[in-house]
Amino acid sequence: MMHIGIYPGSFDPVTNGHLDIVRRASSLCDKLIIAVARNQDKRSLFATEERVSMLIECCSDDINNVEVVSFDGLLVDYCRQKEVSFIVRGLRAIADFEYEHAIALMNKKLAPDVETVFLMASAEYSFVSSRMVKEVASYKGDISSLVPDCVIPRLMKRLCSV
Ligand code: ADP
Repeated sequence: MMHIGIYPGSFDPVTNGHLDIVRRASSLCDKLIIAVARNQDKRSLFATEERVSMLIECCSDDINNVEVVSFDGLLVDYCRQKEVSFIVRGLRAIADFEYEHAIALMNKKLAPDVETVFLMASAEYSFVSSRMVKEVASYKGDISSLVPDCVIPRLMKRLCSV
């Protein structure tokens, strides 16, 4: 049986912290689907397609069992459709725990056969979030060690036009 994992999120934009989780999670399964949530479009800086294409660009070099998609609706429905056996989420600090715990329990209730697996953020990225990256970039702070190269020009362009 093929073990398929799914890493869902907003990825607005992808950070080196996300990529660290992608690399580690992709070694735990036959295929890892990175699933960009469409339903948060209104609050996000980047359109879904752009979030997807940044992920494709930065995953193409070194990760060969990764697929990037976008999805609508309930994650667990998408998991069933794609025969996913586990959901991957990253945990940075205690602050993440409460939110992640609630989502994991709800998903378990909706789809008891799908497990949620948590990977601890690596120490060097445990302070990195898409929100902070956007904030620092908006004040022209240096984010070059926090996001993959392909994100920087897009972030600059997007923030200049806001
Ligand atoms: P969401 O809006 O679903 O929280 P995010 O794109 O912010 O989407 O995050 C997706 C997942 O990646 C979440 O589980 C989040 O905790 C995790 N994550 C975000 N940043 C990091 C990081 N720097 N290191 C490890 N995990 C992270």
